Amino acid sequence: MKIALTFDIERDNPNFLDSYFGVKVGLQKIRRILENYNIKGTFFCTGNVVEHLPEDIRVLEKEGHEIACHGLNHERLVQLTFNKCQEIISQNKKLLEDTCQNSKIVGFRAPYLRAPRYLFKILENLGFEYDSSIKSSKSLKAYQTRQNKIQEFHPSEFSAFFRLPLSYSLLRKKIFKKELVILYFHPWEAINMKNLAFTQSNLFNFVKYFQFRPDRWINTGNCFTARFISFIKESISKKAKFMTLNQLYCEKY
Ligand SMILES: [Zn+2]
Repeated sequence: MKIALTFDIERDNPNFLDSYFGVKVGLQKIRRILENYNIKGTFFCTGNVVEHLPEDIRVLEKEGHEIACHGLNHERLVQLTFNKCQEIISQNKKLLEDTCQNSKIVGFRAPYLRAPRYLFKILENLGFEYDSSIKSSKSLKAYQTRQNKIQEFHPSEFSAFFRLPLSYSLLRKKIFKKELVILYFHPWEAINMKNLAFTQSNLFNFVKYFQFRPDRWINTGNCFTARFISFIKESISKKAKFMTLNQLYCEKY
């Protein structure tokens, strides 16, 4: 069995919180866990994180993780024109290439996992090799573009349930039946988001964006890191192999 641990490196809850505590604090916790178990992950980074905290991205590269693209400011790409979307992804790639000069940037994930229909054409134009935006439990497929193929690595629909009560034990059973699972996480999941939301927002926003969206805060912080570690330990005991998406891509072609 193969497992790809992927992380979307963006602001704390885009469109709600403009802070970077997840990257500053949560990402360090995640890096230490991966280092303890000698696992390399794939990190999809937004351009604004690269601009604000380039050292935090460089250290990921130095530690051997894969760096990939996730938009400039976590835009909803489906609302943009082809040209605007291409410009954003191109700038995102350039920022990462300038910051991580030893990495070849070949992967993309659309913010909110919402991919416009012309995304594959853009990815081909900009020299990407794979995408990981389309949620599905189906087997892997490659999308044919005019001259090339862009491999799709479907992020698992399980990921959102990793922190929710009750769903986790069911989720583990499902995960370990699969040959390949691509899980996605965020650095803010490793910090206590309920505390952060209280201190960083007014009551109206807290109720509007958090009270009715438990997925944005439930079991974040120590509870998340404990589950994450226990999942890694179980995966290792079951002889699962951890891979980056680029490693999976290279194995296939
Ligand atoms: Zn995202």
